[in-house]
Amino acid sequence: MSNSIAAPLNFIGQSTAVQGQFSDVVSSLNWQTTAASIDSQTAEDVRRVLVKKNLQIDDFITLVSPAAQAFLPEMVAKSQQLTRQRFGFGMSLFAPLYLSNTCANECSYCGFSMSNPIKRLTLNESDVENEVRALKTKGFDHILLVTGETSKVSLSYFKKMLPIITPSFNYLSMEIQPLEVDEYSALRGLGLNAVLVYQETYNKTTYAKHHIKGKKSDFNYRLDAPDRIGQAQVHKIGLGVLLGLDDWRTDSVFLAHHLRHLQKQYWRSRFSISFPRIRPCEGGIEVGSEITDKQLVQLVCAWRLFDADVELSLSTRESAHFRDHVLPIGFTSMSAESKTQPGGYAEDAQSALKQFEISDERQVSDIAKLIQSHGLEVIWKDWDKAYNS
Ligand code: SF4
Repeated sequence: MSNSIAAPLNFIGQSTAVQGQFSDVVSSLNWQTTAASIDSQTAEDVRRVLVKKNLQIDDFITLVSPAAQAFLPEMVAKSQQLTRQRFGFGMSLFAPLYLSNTCANECSYCGFSMSNPIKRLTLNESDVENEVRALKTKGFDHILLVTGETSKVSLSYFKKMLPIITPSFNYLSMEIQPLEVDEYSALRGLGLNAVLVYQETYNKTTYAKHHIKGKKSDFNYRLDAPDRIGQAQVHKIGLGVLLGLDDWRTDSVFLAHHLRHLQKQYWRSRFSISFPRIRPCEGGIEVGSEITDKQLVQLVCAWRLFDADVELSLSTRESAHFRDHVLPIGFTSMSAESKTQPGGYAEDAQSALKQFEISDERQVSDIAKLIQSHGLEVIWKDWDKAYNS
């Protein structure tokens, strides 16, 4: 078991003033033009980008294009080399802790959707204590709190739960409904280190089709959530698109624009990218544009070549076979032994409470061995709460 402590960041110099939200930037981008640009890339373009340093968005377009598929072995080798140079041989492990499956939204792809007739559960204080104890026993020091999006799991709920959770973990991430700047600041004061908020898709029409009811149907409010997280000076901002809702290449290029915008505005923050692919869930599934395993590898490598500093996360949504093979290519963190139902660690809760099916169900001890078999080191702890300001 290894501990690797990252240097603390100082937010002095990161402005808290609103300097333009991403919704202002995105209005100057065009979905069709971007898609056409991706399709027009050639092998010659790919060769040129593969020898470049300091890649721009145009280079990212080249790397996610169909033309780059033929260069996958080179991309993997370069991505792996850059990852080891920047992050060493560590792989951070974390686990999600689902606090609630109640939700006031209707998303076509999610088992927690409001109209889905599943049993709803929001953990109380003693449930949370049991979950914390179970996760500590497994060795985790970084947990990701996950909830549906409803007023039941708003700031007042977290004010009760975080003091139960934070004494046991050094790094706390949250994947919750988008909040206001002062709410993120309040959570930061309670020990929050990172917030993950995925736009799902940057195509407004597709977004409207899949986010049918509830607050999440407000495209721009979600789009500007990472700006608000940056303004609240949260240490890390996690981004992603739900791969499969629309064309993954075009969505990823929009995400690259989003990342660059945030890096300019909130340059003291760290950033991570996740790669959720739509998984089967209660209530059915709609996949608009499938991304194959090979294409996902291409996408991960494109991100690493585009940005050597961004953290890349590998989900337990992926199969054990896929995770075994792609683990060393560019990822810096991965979840293990995840339970996607509230109360899932302390008890064998019913599968009907789950948000989606986990594909890699191996125990964390097996994942630790897998990481070591790739010549990498398991990082349980990469932060100390003494650094929290
Ligand atoms: S994706 Fe999120 S907001 Fe949508 S139904 Fe699921 S939990 Fe609710």
